[in-house]
Amino acid sequence: MKIICIGRNYAEHAKELNNPVPAKPVVFMKPASALLVNEKPFYYPDFTNDLHHEIEIVLKIAKNGRHVQPEFASSYYEEIGLGIDFTARDLQQECKEKGQPWEIAKAFDGSAVLGKFVPVDRVNRQAIEFRLLKNGEAVQHGNTKDLLFSFEQIIVYVSRFFKLQQGDLIYTGTPAGVGPVLVGDVLEGELFLKDRVEKLLQCEVK
Ligand code: ZN
Repeated sequence: MKIICIGRNYAEHAKELNNPVPAKPVVFMKPASALLVNEKPFYYPDFTNDLHHEIEIVLKIAKNGRHVQPEFASSYYEEIGLGIDFTARDLQQECKEKGQPWEIAKAFDGSAVLGKFVPVDRVNRQAIEFRLLKNGEAVQHGNTKDLLFSFEQIIVYVSRFFKLQQGDLIYTGTPAGVGPVLVGDVLEGELFLKDRVEKLLQCEVK
């Protein structure tokens, strides 16, 4: 199982970190050991002083495929969920300045928080809304109509390089509003279904 992540996939978020809007998807990966599931707490790591939350819609890959063609891409996921791409922003900045890979800033243990999944037919596929609450207050509110690269475009693009395998996860990028978390914070991810808002994710920072 692998975790594929897309960076800078919402223009407003690229802007808030002074990054250019990319012409092609920005792709990186996390190892399976980065996963944090079952609402387990996240322990603030000692190597950063600026840990940021990034709420993202996560696709669960339903079948194996390479070089997926655009007309078939939507059949490669049947369930979506929410995840947090925890980022050590200070380390990432250092890596970016030195032109180095940023795994230590983004792929560390527990950096891929993963909540529950729902069947994709329970959301409005054209405009999926989601948000992150920090201590009960909404800090990020995204809508997939603002994606620079759609889920289907992501699947087509990444499957040119990496064979998609059933059970792989794709973190599809974070909307604007990323910010620091502190010990004691409680993060909750909510997805807007057709008929109601459902909490899919909770994570306490310890
Ligand atoms: Zn991210």
